[in-house]
Amino acid sequence: MVVHMTKTLYLQDSYLKECDATIVSVKEGKFVVLDQTIFYPKGGGQPWDTGKIVRDNDIFNVVYVGKFSGEVSHEVDRLGLQDGDQIHCILNWQRRYRLMQSHTAAHVFASLLCKETGALITGNQLGEDKIRFDFSLEEYSREILERHIEKTNQLLGKDVPVKWYELPKEEAMKIPGIVKMAKALPPDIPSLRIIEITGVDKQADGGTHVRSLKEVGPIKLLKTENKGKSNRRVYFSFK
Ligand SMILES: [Zn+2]
Repeated sequence: MVVHMTKTLYLQDSYLKECDATIVSVKEGKFVVLDQTIFYPKGGGQPWDTGKIVRDNDIFNVVYVGKFSGEVSHEVDRLGLQDGDQIHCILNWQRRYRLMQSHTAAHVFASLLCKETGALITGNQLGEDKIRFDFSLEEYSREILERHIEKTNQLLGKDVPVKWYELPKEEAMKIPGIVKMAKALPPDIPSLRIIEITGVDKQADGGTHVRSLKEVGPIKLLKTENKGKSNRRVYFSFK
């Protein structure tokens, strides 16, 4: 048996809103694997994309996308798709673009906070409306967070390029702060995908981001929770 790996177009170009694809397999009538996809599967704190799979004039709504045994699986809302079908993918772009903006804003905030305070990220969840961060930090106050939101806002809206590229893992691991998750070990692969916000941050990351900070508006602090020094929690959203 030949194991087919889906071509993950969202990693090469996060601005693709549509693509053609061929169905490689359908499980239980509604879990669909494609030869290539623009749909981001849930992972790394970034929620899954939604949208449509269209076959001729037939529309199937994509309600969930996950990665199972290395394959991107699209859950559709009804039966009918078959192996070998030629289909067209259309993203719910409004949702995805919001998540790209959130993700990039989250990197700026995390980078500034980690650099100044030595905080490590212990968890994160991006949403369309709000972003949650958990981190470990000895000294902690609402003032520290407010100050870093301020510093983040000084960069958001500016024409600061965001780039993504692959680096050999060994080379990447020499960059300070490349892995900001406290418990994250880089996957057992020869190269890492790096997201670089020019002059601000370099981070190993498999998410989707905007091309420039000028595409991201200012953020505001929503609330903080203190669940112990290794679990400070902060919520923020766009203004
Ligand atoms: Zn990220």
